[in-house]
Amino acid sequence: MVIVAYRIDARDQITAVNEGWSISAQANSAEHLLAPGILGRRLWDLISDPATAQIYQELVNRVRGGSGPVDFVFRCDSPGERRLLQMQITEVAEAGEILFEVSSIAVQPRLAVSLLDQTSPRSGTVLQMCGWCKRVPANPDSWLEIEQAVAELNLFAAPAMPAISHGMCPDCHGAMLAVLAKPSSANSSPIGARALPQAISQSENG
Ligand SMILES: [Zn+2]
Repeated sequence: MVIVAYRIDARDQITAVNEGWSISAQANSAEHLLAPGILGRRLWDLISDPATAQIYQELVNRVRGGSGPVDFVFRCDSPGERRLLQMQITEVAEAGEILFEVSSIAVQPRLAVSLLDQTSPRSGTVLQMCGWCKRVPANPDSWLEIEQAVAELNLFAAPAMPAISHGMCPDCHGAMLAVLAKPSSANSSPIGARALPQAISQSENG
C-alpha cells in the first residue's frame, strides 16, 4: 500500500503531495513541508545531502530516459519503530512528470530511541547518519545500527542528544549506483545494509 506519494513536473517542481506526505511532515514537526506552501518548490532544494540529491536526480533522469520505473528500499525509522520502506519512481503520462510512491515493506517495534525523537534536547555535537539505512559510523569503515550506536556512544546516559547530519554510507552509495546501472528489465531492490536487523517473515499488511 502506498503511504506517501508526490509528483514533480518537468522542471522538478513539486506539483502534488498526498495526505501521507502531510501526515509525515507534521509527525516530523516540518511545517515548512506542508501543502500548499511546498507546491512549486524544487524537489532538490528539500534534500540537504548533496550525494543523496545527486542520486535522486540521476534516478529521475533515468526514468525520464524511458527505462521504465525504478525502485529501491530504504529505512525511515521513527523513535519507536524500525521501518523498511520501498520507493518507486515512475514517469506519468505527461512527458517529464514524475511520480514518487513510498510503500511500507516491514515494521518492527522497539524501545524508543531518543536520538530520533525530534523533541529531545540537542547538544552542540553533530552525529553523522546515513539517510538511507539509518546507520551511524563508529569509524569510517564500520557503520552501526542505531541502537548499537546509542550503546557505543553512551547516549542512554547523555543529558542531550547530538544533532543529526544526514549523509550516505558507502554501502548505500554502492547499492544506489547498482540500481542506476541495472538493466531496465531487472526488478529487484537491493536491500543490503537497509534490511531490518532480524529476518522479517511477515510483511505488514496495511
Ligand atoms: Zn546507508
